[in-house]
Amino acid sequence: MFKDIVSNDLVKEFLQKELDFNRKAGTYLFYGVDNGLLKRFAKAFAKGLNCSELKNDFCGKCENCIRIESETHGDLEILEDPSGIKVDSIRALAYKDSITSYEGKNKIYIINNIEKMRKEAANALLKMIEEPNDGSFFILLSGSLNILPTIKSRSILINIKSQTKEDLEVSLDEYSFFQGKALEIEKFKERTDIDLEEVSSYENIGENLKKWLDTEDLIYKVEIYKNIRDFMNIREYLTLVDKSYFIEEILKNSGNREDIKLILDYSINLIDKKSKKLEEILEIKNIIKTPINLKNYLTIFFNKI
Ligand SMILES: [Zn+2]
Repeated sequence: MFKDIVSNDLVKEFLQKELDFNRKAGTYLFYGVDNGLLKRFAKAFAKGLNCSELKNDFCGKCENCIRIESETHGDLEILEDPSGIKVDSIRALAYKDSITSYEGKNKIYIINNIEKMRKEAANALLKMIEEPNDGSFFILLSGSLNILPTIKSRSILINIKSQTKEDLEVSLDEYSFFQGKALEIEKFKERTDIDLEEVSSYENIGENLKKWLDTEDLIYKVEIYKNIRDFMNIREYLTLVDKSYFIEEILKNSGNREDIKLILDYSINLIDKKSKKLEEILEIKNIIKTPINLKNYLTIFFNKI
């Protein structure tokens, strides 16, 4: 039920009112920095739109709720691509929307990473939301409001604020360690085998990246964070050879720009916010948006940081 999601009380109230309206179709833009939390709200609302037990809420127990949670519901489509959804994926979705029949009450399209979408894909999406079929609901998720204005103007805008350390019932250190990411923090709280204090050498980053990509077990993500923390703590004493080793280990085990962006974000997060260097480093970070060779890029970044 909505009340089980701690935080964002006004949003929950608003969404429940929306369910009361019994709209035939709709487009919502959920925006905020915690993408995991945006997705949780999107799925909660999707359940509310299709729950067979409750009217302006979701039970979490009926077939519809369970299958939306596990992302196996026939009337739920989720599109996501951290590097930006491609126009072909939107076209395929539009085609599917035109030919498939309903399994339940409403068809839900959760489309993530809207802020990364290129113009062509955004325009294809715009066509879908301009004249939605009855029973079609679009829940767009975005890290910011810096998106195509025409999409913005056709959506109901909902700001989802990150949960606070009080909402999540963790210490400031724990909260900062995970950069306030609610889903990671909740998984962490269920574990007793994860120690955030322990030091883990930067030299192990390659091994941990590989294990994380193979298992998606939080313990390895935590290890990666610790490896970055270690690198940042001792960076002044590292030689060029040490730094090159760190970079090679990252590249050998992940050539994906999105994973690398997460590593950069985590590193930047550990820089003193008052540091004069911060602005310069954020500027360097933006070079990743250009087609620069990743090795050259990381060399510039980690030598400057
Ligand atoms: Zn239900």
